[in-house]
Amino acid sequence: MNNMKQDYIFSIDVGGTAIKLAIMNAEGKLQKLWQIPTNRKEEGKYIIDEIYEEFKQAIHNLQINKDDFIGVGMGAPGPILPNGVMKRATNIGWENYPLKAKLEERFQLPAFVENDANCAALGEMWQGAGKGLKNLVCITLGTGVGGGVIVNGEIVSGTSGGGGEIGHITVQYKDGAPCNCGKKGCIETIASATGVVRLAMEKIKRSNEETALTRLYKKYGKITAKDVFDLAAGNDPVCVQIVEEVCFYLGHVLGTLSSTLNPDAFIIGGGVSDAGETLLMPLEKYYRQFAFPSTVDDTKIIRATLGNQAGVYGAAYLVKNKLS
Ligand code: ZN
Repeated sequence: MNNMKQDYIFSIDVGGTAIKLAIMNAEGKLQKLWQIPTNRKEEGKYIIDEIYEEFKQAIHNLQINKDDFIGVGMGAPGPILPNGVMKRATNIGWENYPLKAKLEERFQLPAFVENDANCAALGEMWQGAGKGLKNLVCITLGTGVGGGVIVNGEIVSGTSGGGGEIGHITVQYKDGAPCNCGKKGCIETIASATGVVRLAMEKIKRSNEETALTRLYKKYGKITAKDVFDLAAGNDPVCVQIVEEVCFYLGHVLGTLSSTLNPDAFIIGGGVSDAGETLLMPLEKYYRQFAFPSTVDDTKIIRATLGNQAGVYGAAYLVKNKLS
């Protein structure tokens, strides 16, 4: 087999603190997966070179020939224009940064770049919970809320890369909490892990009597989103109320998107989705309340299966989809 040309893909998922790197074949079989810290010095100017050094070392160790690579795919956190220029990655420092051109120059291979949340959605469609489906909305409930919309197998990135920014749909029109994007009342301020903690802290501050939540806060000096969902799973009334509030707003977003896109499925990922049925059951209830009744039954709400590897699978899919 070794003398036969293989179709390998090098895929990259750039995050604010770490960069995931993977070598896989065009069928999605992972050969190697590893990560390096994100070097944010001098507006991220060393990142591409550092990634290339890692790549060279890895293919040397794996004894793979560079000619066996069909391309490089990258997901990165921020809007990416159709010409492969990163508009702005605030937590890295790239601004109007020609990512695609830089990768192609460094690797001497075709390169494809896409927003990281969009990559995660493509990954779930290719090798994860959405396998075999063509119309998907992926929502990642982590520190923030990421989104990716796939219509007829293609990611919707829009005119300037801002398509699928589901986290920044406004759900509280008045007196909403400030969001990282500069607006107020985005779904990210409610349904992210940070949002759930914020709602819990509001309850704690307003509470005159001792509750399971205030006890936990007194004991550890902080509350996590997992604490809230764990207590809700045990029917703690205060935490059930928080989860209901989260699901009311998120269900409204799902219902609205369902009326716009009529997808096969909503795929829910990220740390908050580890709550499983404690999240999905009330979410389904409110989704059903807000979705277009004639098609409400045609969309499933399912959990993502690739975890934090969805991004590297999606970045590889960008290459596979264009080239193999
Ligand atoms: Zn926002």
